[in-house]
Parts: sequence; structure tokens; C-alpha cells
Amino acid sequence: MAQKKVDVLIIGSGHTGGMAAKILTEKGIACTMLDAGPMLNFEKDRELKPVHELPYRGFDAPGRLPHVFQASEFNANMWVDEKTIPYYHPPDQIYNWVRVRSVGGRSPFWGRQSFRHSDYEFKSKDHDGFGENWPISLKDLEPYYPRVEEIFRVTGHTDGLPQYPDGKFIEDNSPWSGAMQRFVNAGKKHGVPVTKARSALGKDGMAASINLVIPDAVATGKLTTIPNAIVRQITVDKATGLADGVLFVDRHSHREMVLKARVVIVAAGTLETTRLLMISNICNSSGALGHYLTDQIYGAGIICSVPEARDGKGGKGLMGGGALIPGFRNLDTKSDGFLRRYAVNVSNNNGPFDARSLPFYGKELDKKLQSYNGSSFSTNIMGETLGHYENHVTLNKDVVDAWGMPTLNIYTKYTSNETNMTKDYIDTMSAMAEDAGFDILVKNYEFNPPGFSIHEQGTARMSDDPKKGVVNKWNQSHDMKNLFITDASVFVSAGWQNPTITMCTLAMRASDYLAEEMRKGNV
Ligand SMILES: Cc1cc2nc3c(=O)[nH]c(=O)nc-3n(C[C@H](O)[C@H](O)[C@H](O)COP(=O)(O)OP(=O)(O)OC[C@H]3O[C@@H](n4cnc5c(N)ncnc54)[C@H](O)[C@@H]3O)c2cc1C
Repeated sequence: MAQKKVDVLIIGSGHTGGMAAKILTEKGIACTMLDAGPMLNFEKDRELKPVHELPYRGFDAPGRLPHVFQASEFNANMWVDEKTIPYYHPPDQIYNWVRVRSVGGRSPFWGRQSFRHSDYEFKSKDHDGFGENWPISLKDLEPYYPRVEEIFRVTGHTDGLPQYPDGKFIEDNSPWSGAMQRFVNAGKKHGVPVTKARSALGKDGMAASINLVIPDAVATGKLTTIPNAIVRQITVDKATGLADGVLFVDRHSHREMVLKARVVIVAAGTLETTRLLMISNICNSSGALGHYLTDQIYGAGIICSVPEARDGKGGKGLMGGGALIPGFRNLDTKSDGFLRRYAVNVSNNNGPFDARSLPFYGKELDKKLQSYNGSSFSTNIMGETLGHYENHVTLNKDVVDAWGMPTLNIYTKYTSNETNMTKDYIDTMSAMAEDAGFDILVKNYEFNPPGFSIHEQGTARMSDDPKKGVVNKWNQSHDMKNLFITDASVFVSAGWQNPTITMCTLAMRASDYLAEEMRKGNV
């Protein structure tokens, strides 16, 4: 008996798989969404245990999450266990691959910073000659960004800066604290815009696929969700050369099952998407699959103390609040030693001071901390890294995961571009902090290894040219017109912006396009 075909099969239920499910089901198209992980049970999974009940007293079991800096034993159950799904990087090319496998993917856990890309990113090659332009511009996304911002309830301030496009915000007109105002003024002197950050308020304290978009899809009656379904291969109809479904295994029983589909959407989270395409041996006529892996540098920064706030004197609106410095270098002029831009997260808080930033020990440290508590001011870089061809992943057939799937080798290297960018950043922030009257205690020029930002992008980039990219400007595979990719693997360059709001916007746009193509019978 011929097997029933589902209309659209979506692999992954994070931000982008969830967005595709919402848009398509609301247009009356039946979707089946498979996710490798279990349904989240917030009551049970969030249960807090006292530290003495944890076998490693709050640290994680050795070897399970060596690359996840964000992990501790308190949240260890939320990350992918690296022993279950290992990956390799050369010892001198550390890569921090931070993954979540449960329905909703990483969406319940993200930091919610939400900035639009600008044409400085979409048309980056036109500005500095490096890499490729995206096949789209901000104008193509203008109908979609506001719809996504409305769903996510993005709060922000309208600034009118071309490199920081304004959006449909819940307007943030809150005043600066005294210390922040001093830093804003110092920025004016140095030609550096210090603005309000923009972030997704979501609903009930969460801005995840499972509370913002998947419930809308469920309400249509057109969505079937299958958790614990690990897709191990996308299958191909030999007669047409098109994708015709998937082979998947049950996470617990390892039983293999088949699901046939008219259209396949891959939204497994950048590198998992690329791994699956590589295992399936599809979508690589361009040779670009697996290449141009990029992200942002994080970690470098300055830590200061605001003298007037020490010894408990920081009241009366002096301290508090954060800010965002959007990319400001290489707009109309060219910087020495590096291409592209960095943004800066600025934090001014009246909480406890970070003991690691004071060069004291024992009683002296205690005394200093008493005095410095409540006076902290710090910055963190979010710098665009360049998507070189050599930054790539390959399949490792000799090492398989717990479900028999080949794993990934990841090869990435930062260059002098990142080092020079960081130097400019630390020097500029230090000059501003000094002008604002802060005491600079730490200047950290060292940034974290690739992957740390959890913003991995590229490896299945978009291009109008099928010889240069894996998907076209509609996120549709050049090789298989019924296969779409909605996550950040399609990004052409990283930008300084956190990527998720743009990923969701592209997923929404691709889904609108797909629905229309299905209606016309083209797909
Ligand atoms: C702590 C943290 C902070 C962050 N902060 C920000 C921020 O402030 N701003 C921002 O823009 N971004 C941020 N991010 C990044 C953001 O979370 C991701 O960009 C986004 O959630 C990725 O969505 P996705 O749909 O591509 O993939 P994911 O959320 O990774 O979802 C992929 C899903 O696919 C499933 N899957 C994988 N392989 C298979 C398979 N073979 N078969 C079936 N299912 C599969 C997984 O189980 C998973 O549920 C942060 C991330 C983290 C973890």
C-alpha cells in the first residue's frame, strides 16, 4: 500500500521551524514537525535542587559539556551531551558548539537581543570587497521584520541610524542613569552612538517558539508534532531528483521509521542542518555546503568602577541600566587593520562587584569588595567575524553519535581582523570610560573561541548563483525546489547583530513564498 504523504515536513521546532509551522498552517497547509528532543515539561525540568544534592556540587560531570561555558550542574539537563553527540575540532582550533535538543530548541533559553540587519550587512561586499553580498536587501525584509517584531514584542528606542534600522518597537523612552548619561556624553565626543538595546519581551517572561508561534500553529488544527524523532536522512525520489521525505529514528527505541512528504523544511539549527544535508548527500552541487562558517567574537571587554558609587553612595539614579553601541566603524570611512564592525553591550549595575576584576586576595579583597560593590560598569564586544571558505565542517564517518549518525569535524580560525578589531574596541571604550570619569580596572583584549557567541551562521549560504550558494533568495535549495532551509546556515555574512530576529524574518518570508508556490502547483 502506498504510504500517505504529509504536505510539509519540518525538521526542528526552534525559532525558525516554529515560525514556518505558524505561517504555513495559518494558510491552511498541513505540517508535520519532527524534533529530535523530548517535549519540555517546565514544572518537572525546572525543579530546583539544593547544591548538596547535586553529585558534583554545582559543577557538571567531567567530560559531558566541555565546550559549553554556559553550563553548570544546575542547568546541565538542557544542553546536548557531548558524549552522546560528539564532534571534533583540531586542538588548536577550539570550537564551542552549544546545542539544545528538546521541542523548542534553543528558543526558551536565548538572551532575546533583537536587532535588524542593515544594508551594511546585506551588501557588505559593495562596501569593502570581502566575500559576497546577500541576494536580498533590507527592502526585501521590510514587509516581514515588523510582523516578527510584533510577535516577539520587541522593545527599543527609535534612533534613525542607518546601520541600526528602526523597527516596530514597544518604545523604550526610559531615562539614562547618571553614570550611563556620562558614558553617552563621552560617546558623543568620540563620535560613537550609545543607544538603547532592543530585546524581545515575548510573553510571560519567555520569547520561545513554544509559547509565541507553535501555539498558533496548533490552534489551526493543521500541525502534528512528533518529539523524540531524530531525522537521520532526507530521502530522494530517484525519478524526480526531489526530496520525498525522511528516515527517522525514535530517540529511545532506536526504531527506524519513514515519513513521505511533498515538501521538506530543514530547521535543525545551522550546523545540524548542514550535517543532515551532508549525511543525506544532497544540496551540494555548488560545493559551498559546509563552508563559510562564521559567527561573532564575544568576551573581550573593560571593567570599571564608578568612583561616586563606591561605599554605598550609588543611590539617587546614579547607577543602573544597559546600552547598546551599534556598529559604527567602516561606515563611511575605513578603519586601519580590520573590515566590518563591532557592537558593544554596555552594562552598569549596582549589584555585587565581580571579585575577579580586583587584584587582591583574602581580607584585602573582602575590604575592597565592600567598597566597590554597587559601582560596576562594563562592556562586552559583539564583533563580526569574516566568513572565510576555509572555516568549514566535514563529515566524520568514523565517529558516529548514539544513533549511528556520522558526526562533524569543525575547522575554524580567527585572523588578525578579529585581533585588530578588538584592539580598536578596547582602546575606544577605555577612552570613553576615562572621559566619563570611571576608573578602569580591567582591559581584557582576549576574546573567546569561535562558537562561543552561540550565533553560528553560514555553511549553506544563499546566493542567486547556484554555483556559489546552496539556497536561493527564498531559502529554497537550488538543487531541490521542494527543500527549504530556514535557519542561520543560509546567512552569507554574520554582521554584528544577534541573528535570531533576522532568521525568523527569513523563515516567515520563505514560508509565505512556499505557500504561494504550492498554491500555484510549482512545488
Ligand atoms: C544562552 C543563549 C543565549 C542566546 N542569546 C541570543 C540573543 O540574545 N539574540 C539572538 O538573536 N540569539 C541568541 N541566541 C541564539 C538563538 O537561540 C538561536 O539563534 C536560535 O534559537 C536558533 O533557532 P533555530 O530554529 O535555528 O535552531 P534551534 O533552536 O537550535 O532548534 C533546532 C531544533 O532542531 C532539532 N534537531 C536537530 N537535529 C535534528 C534532527 N536530525 N532531527 C530532528 N530534529 C533535529 C533540535 O532538537 C532543536 O530543537 C542565544 C542562544 C543561547 C543558547
